Amino acid sequence: MTTIRGLQLRNRLCRLCLEAGYPIDPRPVVGGRQGQRAYLFGLAPGRIEAERGRPWQGRTGRTLRRWLQMDEETFFEQFYCASVTRCFPGPSPSGRGDRRATAVEERLCAPWREAELRLLDPDLVVTLGLVPARVLLGVDRLTSAVGKSFALADAIAIPLPHPSGASGWLNDPANRARLGKALTHIRRELARIA
Ligand code: SF4
Repeated sequence: MTTIRGLQLRNRLCRLCLEAGYPIDPRPVVGGRQGQRAYLFGLAPGRIEAERGRPWQGRTGRTLRRWLQMDEETFFEQFYCASVTRCFPGPSPSGRGDRRATAVEERLCAPWREAELRLLDPDLVVTLGLVPARVLLGVDRLTSAVGKSFALADAIAIPLPHPSGASGWLNDPANRARLGKALTHIRRELARIA
């Protein structure tokens, strides 16, 4: 049976989306180690994460750590960090933000996530934004999911909005209250599994 380390080494060599014709930067970004009990599941790395080879390095990562009230060291100690697709998808054709990976790319990348979850068997899963929540939990609206928890195999899964704030979802005070509830729940779960 492979280990998380072995899986990461194989994942780093993955070029499936490039070979399928997608304009990715083929440097998969995943961070974590065997034994971590909390699994953080985002959308895709950005350019800065691809350049540094480490997840959650830019402003969005700093926002996430502020939400979680963690410094960078504690954050990476707590969470195994993965995403729906693991390579920087390139800029959006519109020139605004990053390109959204296609459903085909999501499917090509899914076996990496499935293997991770089998090997880690986490106690807590945190999704960030609608797409990761849809992929793992079948959620179709953030509003009806943030502030609630879900069962995912043996784990409790807690959805958060994406910390980039690009969607404007957090402009609504009711949604900010949902976020606060979800963050309280995550802190409680982290304390429980510590
Ligand atoms: S996004 Fe995933 S499947 Fe596609 S090349 Fe990167 S690691 Fe491989």
